[in-house]
Amino acid sequence: MALMVQAIRGMNDLLPEDTSVWQQVEKVLRETVSSYGYSEVRMPIVEKTKLFCRAIGEVTDVVEKEMYSFEDRSGDHLSLRPEGTAGCVRACIEHNLVYNQEQRLWYMGPMFRHERPQKGRYRQFHQMGVEVFGLDGPDIDAELIALTYSIWKKLGIENELELQLNSLGSAEERAAYREALVKFLEAHFDDLDEDSKRRTHTNPLRVLDTKDEKVIEILKDAPKLSDYFGEQTKAHFDGLRKFLDNLGIKYVLNDRLVRGLDYYNLTVFEWVTTALGAQGTVCGGGRYDGLVEQLGGAPTKAVGFGLGLERLILLLLTLGKVAPKPNVDVYVVGSGEGSEMRMLEVSNFLRQALPGVAVMNHCGGGNFKKQFKKADKFCAKVAVIIGESEIANNSVTIKNMTDKDAQQQEYPLDKAADAIKAILG
Ligand code: ATP
Ligand code: MG
Repeated sequence: MALMVQAIRGMNDLLPEDTSVWQQVEKVLRETVSSYGYSEVRMPIVEKTKLFCRAIGEVTDVVEKEMYSFEDRSGDHLSLRPEGTAGCVRACIEHNLVYNQEQRLWYMGPMFRHERPQKGRYRQFHQMGVEVFGLDGPDIDAELIALTYSIWKKLGIENELELQLNSLGSAEERAAYREALVKFLEAHFDDLDEDSKRRTHTNPLRVLDTKDEKVIEILKDAPKLSDYFGEQTKAHFDGLRKFLDNLGIKYVLNDRLVRGLDYYNLTVFEWVTTALGAQGTVCGGGRYDGLVEQLGGAPTKAVGFGLGLERLILLLLTLGKVAPKPNVDVYVVGSGEGSEMRMLEVSNFLRQALPGVAVMNHCGGGNFKKQFKKADKFCAKVAVIIGESEIANNSVTIKNMTDKDAQQQEYPLDKAADAIKAILG
């Protein structure tokens, strides 16, 4: 046998059992964003590398260490998208969707980051992203948080996730704070870990979300960004908190929450669970009012979030909130002269008569015992049996596979669909 080529580490295959769960979750996500009136956009998976450098920031983990970048055959510098916001903003500017207009958009698809693969952290992972353009009030920030909350409720995990909330203020407020923070960090420089030392001068705010316990302790005495907030920032944040209080959505304030990407201002939030170990952030987002202009568009307010599907699904599986579902409802079996042709016809007839019902036709012959074993293997709830007498009578025999005591019963073909419906409920 030839040596097998394996998949890339951190890039997972989704097999039938997995996709059955993924489809259930994706359906809830799609239905929720649709119920809020949001429209889907689909962007390319590859963009010019400089788009991500400009949008995400040169001195972020994503751009410094995590991008899959390459030169294509024409010498263009391209990257697999590490997140969706940059491409979405680019598409909106390019197609003139945001100039003087409001847009509420969503997308879902694979993202790529060269990270160390572990539970909840992969090199190809999937996000649903939501981006809203042209609205600046805290009401839309509250709407996005409420939207995510309604997803958790539909999935039965609203008590498993904690909403962490912070405000990053305006660019000017952050610049003033940055000076004070750098001074503080320099005063404690020798006690910082290597990452924090490096970030002190490249991206000091990122020091705030360090995972190093010693640095966290030191930061307790650091100056607070909120002390630099002006009236507008305060009013925006207070407004958001009032909306959330009224909606009954609980949150904790976390002034160390800065998020990994450079483009955020004002509201930032994360939904975090303790059930997944270190990779506990299922969803994160915030406001990024400067990004559209930074990428060459007219100044446009914007807010959005990204939701990690692997982590969400891992959480749902851990808590037993989803399970694989059988793909087959009805299994058609048969035996005898002419049965194979008749089975194909009957299967087609049933598929037309029963929209939304999955009808699988047995192929490959064999005795009934073997065929019923297949029906069980696929977890079919109904078996439709075709023998020579059924062919002669233009009928089928129907067996309820979920009830061992139920008698199988013959029906004229035109009554078969109703009989199956009655069993499927
Ligand atoms: P983390 O702090 O875990 O590295 P992040 O801040 O880099 O996350 P974002 O860029 O905010 O993540 O992406 C939004 C969401 O996408 C995350 O909350 C997470 O659920 C998911 N996500 C990010 N990176 C990965 C990854 N490598 N594998 C799986 N899911 C991921
Ligand atoms: Mg990350």
